Amino acid sequence: MNSGGFATRGAPGGASVRPAGGTRQKSVSFEFFPPKTEKMEAALWESVERLEPLSPTFVSVTYGAGGSTRERTLATVKKIAAETTMPVAAHLTCVAATKDEVDSAARSFLDAGINHIVALRGDPPEGDSKYTPHPGGYDCAASLVEGLRRIGDFEISVAAYPEVHPDAASAEADLDNLKRKVDAGATRAITQFFFSNDTFLRFLDRARAAGIDIPIIPGIMPVTNFKNVRRFAGMCGAVVPQWLADRFEGLDDDPETRSLIAATTAVEQCLDLHEAGVDGFHFYTLNRANLSYAICHMLGVRPQDEAIDAGLQLSMAS
Ligand SMILES: Cc1cc2nc3c(=O)[nH]c(=O)nc-3n(C[C@H](O)[C@H](O)[C@H](O)COP(=O)(O)OP(=O)(O)OC[C@H]3O[C@@H](n4cnc5c(N)ncnc54)[C@H](O)[C@@H]3O)c2cc1C
Repeated sequence: MNSGGFATRGAPGGASVRPAGGTRQKSVSFEFFPPKTEKMEAALWESVERLEPLSPTFVSVTYGAGGSTRERTLATVKKIAAETTMPVAAHLTCVAATKDEVDSAARSFLDAGINHIVALRGDPPEGDSKYTPHPGGYDCAASLVEGLRRIGDFEISVAAYPEVHPDAASAEADLDNLKRKVDAGATRAITQFFFSNDTFLRFLDRARAAGIDIPIIPGIMPVTNFKNVRRFAGMCGAVVPQWLADRFEGLDDDPETRSLIAATTAVEQCLDLHEAGVDGFHFYTLNRANLSYAICHMLGVRPQDEAIDAGLQLSMAS
């Protein structure tokens, strides 16, 4: 049995210049998906309310395959913007839509006061193995970023792939593609989830060496349903290490223990990344707040009031 874990095997090339972790502040952001049913809607709002006190840098709402959630994504980001203090971003993809249709979705976000877009190409519709741009549509995320820049003064986040996107001809081509998105106007990259911090840190070094200087925020997937994560990882090219499989072995019918292991594993991953100089973390919440909340608590990311109280008590005691 290999208990494994995240400890980085020494700093990869150039990583030694990173400051040691410890007292530096950590920042977090959370990703939600637009709910389909009333029950899912209730779960989402419970999560939003639970995570809001942690003052995330931003929260984002995904855009379903083929633009299928356009209205629900818009309704969800609007409601988050209206009812919470959290900055909110809307995901937007190029799939199955003309440029005019995508531009009009972007304008409706802007009209609703949402000026942060996570700009994505999107995946081929189910059943198609290869991505084919819609005739008259944006062919890739870099073109979408260019299009958005023409429409308004958006803050634009894009996707990055420490383990290389399955469609990329090579790791270099994938990095060139990220550079194209940055040159087109992206201001932040958020990565696909990964379970090898060494791989992420090496990717960060290569991106910096290629002149990509925007923040690159690691996407953290707290694993509760190991089978689902393994299936999804297979589709997006993320490697699932044996030590992670070992941790979940024999727990198919024990969700409570799986949750505890999920939180511990994600905290371990974030602390190891923080030690290597990474301060921001983007959590794929899957609309379930409890895990992300517990992970943030263990990382020292606390509700603002609590943090202020703790600071006051400290200063009164000294
Ligand atoms: C943080 C994050 C959030 C996401 N949110 C969503 C979401 O809300 N909805 C959704 O449907 N999907 C989402 N995805 C998944 C994403 O849509 C897929 O990974 C998709 O396959 C690629 O999107 P992209 O924006 O990275 O594409 P791109 O950056 O356009 O690139 C995709 C791949 O194609 C290659 N490529 C692009 N252009 C060219 C070119 N001209 N010539 C050769 N190769 C090229 C690139 O190298 C890259 O490997 C998300 C992914 C991440 C990491």
